[in-house]
Amino acid sequence: MSTATPEAPTARRRHISVPTPQVPRSRRSPEEIAAASTFEGPRRVLLAAPRGYCAGVDRAVIAVEKALEQHGAPVYVRKEIVHNRHVVDTLQQKGVIFVEEADEVPEGELLVFSAHGVSPAVKQLASDRNLETIDATCPLVTKVHREAVRFTTKDDYHILLIGHDGHEEVEGTFGHAPERTTIVNGPWEVDQIEVPDPDKLIWLSQTTLSVDETMETVNKLRERFPNLQDPPSDDICYATSNRQAAIKKVAPQADLVIVVGSANSSNSVRLKEVALEYGAARAERVDFANQVDEAWFTQAQTIGVTSGASVPEVLVQDVLRLLAEYGYDDVEEVVTAEEDIVFSLPKEIRKALAEAGHDDVGRGGRKRTACSD
Ligand code: SF4
Repeated sequence: MSTATPEAPTARRRHISVPTPQVPRSRRSPEEIAAASTFEGPRRVLLAAPRGYCAGVDRAVIAVEKALEQHGAPVYVRKEIVHNRHVVDTLQQKGVIFVEEADEVPEGELLVFSAHGVSPAVKQLASDRNLETIDATCPLVTKVHREAVRFTTKDDYHILLIGHDGHEEVEGTFGHAPERTTIVNGPWEVDQIEVPDPDKLIWLSQTTLSVDETMETVNKLRERFPNLQDPPSDDICYATSNRQAAIKKVAPQADLVIVVGSANSSNSVRLKEVALEYGAARAERVDFANQVDEAWFTQAQTIGVTSGASVPEVLVQDVLRLLAEYGYDDVEEVVTAEEDIVFSLPKEIRKALAEAGHDDVGRGGRKRTACSD
């Protein structure tokens, strides 16, 4: 199901007009910043595409919105539905209560599992409390869960799971085969790993890692375990790969890259790292435009902008409006891939929509055009 782009195609550029800026807080004036700047000449923005919302995040957010419509508030969500401050705050205002674990939810209430996925133990806990549940796990994460079960139960492998220990997605995947999985945080851990049988190993990964760093880890693992098996298809998802490919095109030309995304968003943090690795002189991550420091502009004739897979486009547009106020009103979109993947909504939502008489239940009124789970 993953459509990762191994090599970014030749970038295309689209010119974008930027509307009148609205800056949310008091700042040093554009004139002050211009006077302090270390360069002369026109300023410009390179806007990476694809960026922002992926199909899995879109699906999860719509699932919660539909649950609110169908069930009424409160709707409980285990962990953040997606890792974005703005999305979480907006849903909270609409009546969502975010909890850390199912045992915080009153018996019989409705609980949504987040896009990052959960272990069977979490589902069991919800069932023990008689909770009604909606599973908004991204289908590309579910694919990794299925691989974990299949390779450990049917094929008797031990899994080396490349990912960040403690991240919700890694906890969920690990929980599908806890006795037969070892988490590998990165290449620096390879020498310390202990495995039951070096000839029965397969690697899987978190979906939102750096493509390059993951392959470095795999290569080191294979040096140590030559019979290490590859997964049947990429676990790093199309959205992560595509956003990294786009920023790789932008970064070498950028004096500053601004990544819009939250600190706990793995793919957003990776975008900042990739930007620096591919030549950006400076890279900064912000949740909102009002976290952009205009002092960054004094050495930045060209600014790259991108956003993580859980970031609504409105937050990027806020950043572009701010940049326009400081003279960065020449915006070129650098396009390295087109995305048209759409996932069908969770089956619990589809069932409720069908019972309510909706004739197109795929996206709750919008036509479903691609993958389903
Ligand atoms: S980043 Fe990838 S795995 Fe995560 S929700 Fe989006 S499409 Fe799914």
